[in-house]
Amino acid sequence: MDAKLLEILVCPVCKGPLHLDKARQELICRGDRLAFAIKDGIPVMLESEARELPADEEVGS
Ligand SMILES: [Zn+2]
Repeated sequence: MDAKLLEILVCPVCKGPLHLDKARQELICRGDRLAFAIKDGIPVMLESEARELPADEEVGS
Protein backbone atom coordinates (compact mmCIF):
# COMPACT_ATOMS: atom_id res chain seq x y z
CA MET A 1 0.00 0.00 0.00
CA ASP A 2 1.17 3.50 -0.84
CA ALA A 3 2.91 5.16 2.10
CA LYS A 4 1.77 8.59 0.90
CA LEU A 5 -1.80 7.44 0.91
CA LEU A 6 -1.37 6.22 4.45
CA GLU A 7 -0.11 9.65 5.49
CA ILE A 8 -3.28 11.40 4.42
CA LEU A 9 -5.64 8.81 5.85
CA VAL A 10 -7.13 9.43 9.25
CA CYS A 11 -9.58 7.54 11.37
CA PRO A 12 -13.13 8.45 10.25
CA VAL A 13 -14.28 8.29 13.86
CA CYS A 14 -11.73 10.36 15.78
CA LYS A 15 -9.72 11.87 12.87
CA GLY A 16 -6.61 10.51 14.51
CA PRO A 17 -3.60 8.87 12.81
CA LEU A 18 -3.78 5.27 11.66
CA HIS A 19 -1.27 2.48 12.03
CA LEU A 20 -0.71 0.07 9.15
CA ASP A 21 -0.72 -3.57 10.15
CA LYS A 22 1.21 -5.04 7.23
CA ALA A 23 0.66 -8.65 8.24
CA ARG A 24 -3.10 -8.31 8.38
CA GLN A 25 -3.41 -5.54 5.78
CA GLU A 26 -5.48 -3.45 8.11
CA LEU A 27 -5.38 0.14 9.24
CA ILE A 28 -5.53 0.38 12.99
CA CYS A 29 -6.88 3.21 15.11
CA ARG A 30 -5.38 2.68 18.52
CA GLY A 31 -7.64 5.24 20.16
CA ASP A 32 -10.86 3.60 19.04
CA ARG A 33 -9.41 0.07 18.82
CA LEU A 34 -10.82 -0.31 15.33
CA ALA A 35 -9.24 -2.09 12.37
CA PHE A 36 -10.14 -0.95 8.86
CA ALA A 37 -9.64 -3.56 6.16
CA ILE A 38 -7.64 -2.89 3.01
CA LYS A 39 -9.34 -4.56 0.07
CA ASP A 40 -7.44 -4.80 -3.21
CA GLY A 41 -5.13 -2.04 -1.98
CA ILE A 42 -7.99 0.28 -1.12
CA PRO A 43 -8.68 1.00 2.53
CA VAL A 44 -12.29 0.65 3.55
CA MET A 45 -12.70 3.69 5.77
CA LEU A 46 -16.16 2.94 7.06
CA GLU A 47 -16.87 2.65 10.75
CA SER A 48 -19.65 0.17 9.98
CA GLU A 49 -17.15 -2.06 8.17
CA ALA A 50 -14.39 -1.81 10.74
CA ARG A 51 -13.37 -4.69 12.93
CA GLU A 52 -13.35 -4.03 16.65
CA LEU A 53 -10.10 -5.07 18.25
CA PRO A 54 -10.43 -7.24 21.32
CA ALA A 55 -8.87 -5.76 24.41
CA ASP A 56 -6.18 -8.43 24.51
CA GLU A 57 -5.13 -8.11 20.88
CA GLU A 58 -1.69 -6.70 20.19
CA VAL A 59 -1.98 -3.42 18.30
CA GLY A 60 1.41 -3.60 16.61
CA SER A 61 4.14 -1.02 16.79
ZN1 LIG B 1 -10.12 6.64 15.77
